[in-house]
Amino acid sequence: MAEIHEHNSLILCRSCDLMVKKRALPSQVRALCPRCHTALYDTPYCSINGMLAICITALILFFPANFLPVLEIHFFGSIRTTTVMEAALAVGELGYWIVAVAVAVSAVIAPLLLISSILIQVMIVKYGLHISWLRKSYITLLKQHSLLAQLSMLEIYVLSFLVSAFQLSDFADVYMGIGTTCFTLLFVMAIFLQREYNLEHMWSKLDD
Ligand SMILES: [Zn+2]
Repeated sequence: MAEIHEHNSLILCRSCDLMVKKRALPSQVRALCPRCHTALYDTPYCSINGMLAICITALILFFPANFLPVLEIHFFGSIRTTTVMEAALAVGELGYWIVAVAVAVSAVIAPLLLISSILIQVMIVKYGLHISWLRKSYITLLKQHSLLAQLSMLEIYVLSFLVSAFQLSDFADVYMGIGTTCFTLLFVMAIFLQREYNLEHMWSKLDD
């Protein structure tokens, strides 16, 4: 049924090298090695409430990150600002439609869908796994998860934006806009979310 997300779910015991499967822990609880009882880890992971908080923060940051100016270009006394959406459109108008679509999908659309999907999964785990249509939606979301996770590449956006900033800085003064701050924070939230989320563990919620 579940495809195994090997991604940081196995750890080695420091003392006896036993391979141990990492599991979600309630807070204040420590995981011990089953063979030699060395303490392995004590941070809760894949915590439903933790992910809920991260998802909500990320969604709040998402809109200013994408719709407020990320670059301010001062050029011969005039000031131009650019948002992520405008940047993608501008690349498209230059004729690079494939690049524009790739940037829009990987930096805007897929991350939004991914964060929303995790938020819905978390809400279903918290309140709705006993309701059959929500349970079915939950399974559908888990099946889509890997694809969305692979398509989400906020760092592509960060790269393309740095390249354009450096190119422009040759003939204009370029400043970071408020959107950049929001985007950086969004990027940090995405890293936390990826660290916290564990697909295999989410599948196991169906058996609880
Ligand atoms: Zn051990």
